[in-house]
Amino acid sequence: MKKIFISLFLASFLFAGKLEIVATLPDLADIAKSVGGEKVSVSSICKGYQDPHYLQAKPSYSRKMRNVDLLIFNGLELEIGWLAPLINSARNPKIKPGKFGSLDCSEGIPLLEVPHNELDRSGGDVHPLGNPHYLLDPQNALIVAQTIATRLSQIDAENSEIYQKNFDEFRRSLELKIVEWEKQSEQLKGLQIVAYHKNWEYLADWLGLEIVGYLENRPGIPPSPKHLKSFVEIVNEQEIRVFLAATFVDVNQAKKAAERTETNLLILPALVGGVQHVDSYFELFDFLIQKLMESAQ
Ligand SMILES: [Zn+2]
Repeated sequence: MKKIFISLFLASFLFAGKLEIVATLPDLADIAKSVGGEKVSVSSICKGYQDPHYLQAKPSYSRKMRNVDLLIFNGLELEIGWLAPLINSARNPKIKPGKFGSLDCSEGIPLLEVPHNELDRSGGDVHPLGNPHYLLDPQNALIVAQTIATRLSQIDAENSEIYQKNFDEFRRSLELKIVEWEKQSEQLKGLQIVAYHKNWEYLADWLGLEIVGYLENRPGIPPSPKHLKSFVEIVNEQEIRVFLAATFVDVNQAKKAAERTETNLLILPALVGGVQHVDSYFELFDFLIQKLMESAQ
């Protein structure tokens, strides 16, 4: 028994060369894996089927963060309800805000729906700094990957060439996929849709979809009976046929609203792992575009 412990102990030293990374979202974890390659070990806190706005801060999450070298997060206050308490209880000085081990991936992203002034609360309480769901435009993942590569090179300068090479490879393959996805989805341009939560803006912006209404009153605020009535009216009057809801929303609410219209309700993953067999960032967009194309036939 003792021998086993000693060899496990030694084995853990052999792997000590890897940078330990924790990402808040599975999409960020997947991008970090591509950029970090064999030099990093990455885990994610939020699962793809969980609502990233309202995760329950479990003690196991802060244990995960205790010994990591780098924390990667979405930012724009997406994780405001749960990340700060986890950072505090993790007691890891490396990942405190402002340290090298804390990386806000929203840096440099061209944002949508940024409020013009403090009184502009159109984003609701959950999108106070602009729409935070920027990972649903794959062009933004190119920026995120660059941000991660730069930070990895700063923390682990010895391997910076490897990070740069991995980033170049990731960029090349993602750029090819973007061209392919844009070709596949050409027919979707101008398609009018409705959505449950304002989490499809970046996808819509990229693919040229037009979102004409939301089931939520405001992001994070469930529909009042009055709002529901006007939502149903908009859908029926404008003959909207596609209704998008992320797997993490209140699916029963979405179904009830869909029953009062003739829309095709698509409950789709908005994050990697949102449904089975969508295990990578590339697979997420393969899946989304395939489902959107089927619904628009
Ligand atoms: Zn949101």
